[in-house]
Amino acid sequence: ERAKYDGVSFLAFSDSLAEAMFGRYELLKDLREAIVNDGIVAYFQPKLDFKTNTLIGFEALARWIYKDGTFIPPDQFIALAESSGLIDKLDQQMVRQSCRAINALKAIGVHVPISVNVAGSEIIRPDYFDCFNSLLAEEDVPYDMIELEITESQFIEEKSYINAHLSALKDLGVGINIDDFGTGYSSLAYLSTLSVSTIKIDHSFVWRMDESEKDWKILKMIIELGHNLGFNVIAEGIETEQQKNHLLSLGCEHGQGYLFAKPMSLEKTLKWAQAD
Ligand code: C2E
Ligand code: MG
Ligand code: MG
Ligand code: MG
Repeated sequence: ERAKYDGVSFLAFSDSLAEAMFGRYELLKDLREAIVNDGIVAYFQPKLDFKTNTLIGFEALARWIYKDGTFIPPDQFIALAESSGLIDKLDQQMVRQSCRAINALKAIGVHVPISVNVAGSEIIRPDYFDCFNSLLAEEDVPYDMIELEITESQFIEEKSYINAHLSALKDLGVGINIDDFGTGYSSLAYLSTLSVSTIKIDHSFVWRMDESEKDWKILKMIIELGHNLGFNVIAEGIETEQQKNHLLSLGCEHGQGYLFAKPMSLEKTLKWAQAD
């Protein structure tokens, strides 16, 4: 690697900085290429009603299968895609792949919606609605089979714009999920005046509730108030039976996590759904 920029005479800054910049540039180049060539693949994690043990949907999660065959996790490329203007294309591909998964599941008799993560910066684009619309039409997927997930922090940042765009989608039947709920500073009462249908409780509460009485109380409050205000409430990151049982005792019956299944390729998802 070093030989590639050895001999560049203006290389006055430190090696590590050069390496960081070179690395970022290379990664960005590869990411752009991956997005164009379908190198970003949607994996699907089931969501369950764990009281009745029934499948209620899937979440699509982006996986970058790097040219050397290794996996690059979203934490390492979503932010890069957002800051370099590539996120739109990436998220569009995730919607398209999710639509195809919805139809592939339908073909084996499984009719559940799939939720797709979407960047706040993207929803506020004036052409988002039209793009989303034509994608669903092209793939022949009805509005109530696809949901959008937007993180609480991004939602709050530009709530008035985002809400205007989301309310148009919600009117068509598209479910709107507030992701990582509890990590931002919005109130449920306020959210209930906006176009939100589902609250996804951040995994940090699920992981801490057994050690921290404070988190237990916050969780209890979110679940109760969430239900009273008419939201679906779903917990993420459930890893143990104990966490599942504690959520049940607090009245939360919907969730996803490694306890049930990890995110899976479409092929594995279909097998998993069939065996279920
Ligand atoms: P998220 O939407 O909150 O997704 C949940 C994350 O928790 C996923 O990580 C999932 O694999 C992981 N997870 C699920 N169950 C468990 C569990 O029981 N234990 C543990 N330790 N982890 C669990 P992942 O796939 O690495 O995604 C990270 C974040 O990247 C996502 O958080 C989402 O904000 C973002 N992201 C992923 N795919 C996309 C995408 O297509 N578009 C956009 N804009 N963002 C995406
Ligand atoms: Mg999500
Ligand atoms: Mg989340
Ligand atoms: Mg997250």
